[in-house]
Amino acid sequence: MPLKKFKSGTSHVGIIQLVSTSFHLYFFIITIKRSDMNTRRKFIKTFASSAFAIPMAVQAGTGIIAPEERILPQEKVLRVALMGLGSYAGRVADAMQACKRAKITGLISGTPAKLKSWQTKYGVPEKNCYNYENFDQIKSNPEIDAVYVITPNALHRDQVIRIAKAGKHVICEKPMGINAKEGEAMVQACKDANVKLLIGYRMHFEPKTLEIVRMRSNNELGKILFFQGLSGFRIGDPGQWRLKKDLAGGGAMMDIGIYSVNGARYMVGEEPVWVTAQETKTDPQKFKEGVDETITFQLGFPGGAIASCLSTYSMNNLDKFFLNGDKGFGELQPATGYGPIMGRTHKGELTHPHVTHQTVQMDEMAAIILDNKKAIVPVDGEEGLKDLKIIDAIYQAVRSGQKVTLKL
Ligand code: NDP
Repeated sequence: MPLKKFKSGTSHVGIIQLVSTSFHLYFFIITIKRSDMNTRRKFIKTFASSAFAIPMAVQAGTGIIAPEERILPQEKVLRVALMGLGSYAGRVADAMQACKRAKITGLISGTPAKLKSWQTKYGVPEKNCYNYENFDQIKSNPEIDAVYVITPNALHRDQVIRIAKAGKHVICEKPMGINAKEGEAMVQACKDANVKLLIGYRMHFEPKTLEIVRMRSNNELGKILFFQGLSGFRIGDPGQWRLKKDLAGGGAMMDIGIYSVNGARYMVGEEPVWVTAQETKTDPQKFKEGVDETITFQLGFPGGAIASCLSTYSMNNLDKFFLNGDKGFGELQPATGYGPIMGRTHKGELTHPHVTHQTVQMDEMAAIILDNKKAIVPVDGEEGLKDLKIIDAIYQAVRSGQKVTLKL
């Protein structure tokens, strides 16, 4: 199937490469024809991981691998243990059933009953299941390549550092930690252990988002002057961990405002150099000290663009990005929900088909970890750390009422 795609969409160079590859292969096969089965098996294995492997097709304009082309049968698959079997982990686990390059091979949970039911549902053997006390033992488990941390925010730092020390790659949910100091320690621990650290920024693989990023970087929007990010929802149950500072690290900003922080950076395509911010609180009972309810913030970029953003836990229907340049605009609404994402630019509606974000994210992350593929919009630890530095500065600007300078 990838062969067909390669043939049909192709240049002369492509045809010559194909002919030359087939020619070499013909002689290679003739040479090994008389040898034994083991040699042939070895050849097939070598071929699969060699430069002969035909490149996969990419979705027009986005650089991400088209769903039907996401794997060559011989490609390596990322074997992932999920940590924290809560509501988002359930969504990830279901989405991963359609992955071509990532699969669930382990589970880490503090709730034995969940471990049992998830084991059955996702076909994970007992020997690959752990709790928060003993998960360092994954070090000696050859069936797990990476752990996906999907627990409350304030637990991420220690969990990520332990996974790195166990020699496994880490995918960590946003926010990667609860302040920049934590983020720095996590990045360093993964560097020291020589493992990759990726942050669960699923929008970085979403086709309509990537189309606006592509148009902006191709100068189709002209000089970028303004970004607006609106991120919020009305939060329910006052007893949940998201409203506890010791587990959440903050309030709406940590949970949903981070989408506007991160979005401002990848939509404008620059790193901000200053921030100002203002907080309002209508319900100090529900949103206690250190748990922000609503924050408006502004970012200034070196090229002269400004961003104006809202983060809130007290209003629904707030999920919008708007990017404006002197030649055109790009708009997403909804911009960061589970989809379908809707968008348009000055050239018209964006019509890229909906993809399940977590399926594409996990296939792309497998390619980043296993093949060193570069994401169009980075998803590494440094990317998560930049967002935490901005969030630290937003909180500082709220406290001081002053403009805070950023050095990212
Ligand atoms: P949930 O409360 O639904 O699940 C969290 C799970 O973490 C729990 O079920 C539990 O699993 C485990 N856990 C371990 N210690 C604790 C503790 N002290 N208190 C509560 N739970 C604990 O949260 P979410 O799944 O909604 O969020 C988890 C993470 O995922 C957060 O960092 C959040 O920001 C992120 N997230 C990202 C989204 C995205 O779109 N990228 C969307 C939603 C969340 P167990 O019983 O198995 O130990």
